[in-house]
Amino acid sequence: MPASTELRELVVARAENRCEYCTIHQDHDRVLRFPVDRIVAGQHGGVYTAENTALACPHCNGKKGPNLTSLVPGTSSPPVPLFNPRTERWSAHFQFRGPIIVGITDVGRATVALLDMNADERVSLRAARGYGEDPNG
Ligand SMILES: [Zn+2]
Repeated sequence: MPASTELRELVVARAENRCEYCTIHQDHDRVLRFPVDRIVAGQHGGVYTAENTALACPHCNGKKGPNLTSLVPGTSSPPVPLFNPRTERWSAHFQFRGPIIVGITDVGRATVALLDMNADERVSLRAARGYGEDPNG
């Protein structure tokens, strides 16, 4: 069962129309209606509640799939949890370097890699819209 209309409205408004993983705005993607992501996927018993949902672009939603954790690239560390937009701040785990999203923690690095946030097409999309440009620069 998909998210209810009421929950979807809450999720979209709370996210200010942006993917809570890669920050792309719904109006800046080719798909104007982003899916409601269950942070803990249905496969693991995750339900559609305000606490377990995030707005995610189709790219991030598809790459995340039912994963709860991932490996940190370039390390032999055990898996770490993926970024949780409900309990963590984006800026605590990620930074923009121009249109590239850089993970600044193990959680951030693992999430950037699993969600393939810097796929060419995603970077091009963000570059074309000025994501990551310093407003004071
Ligand atoms: Zn995204």
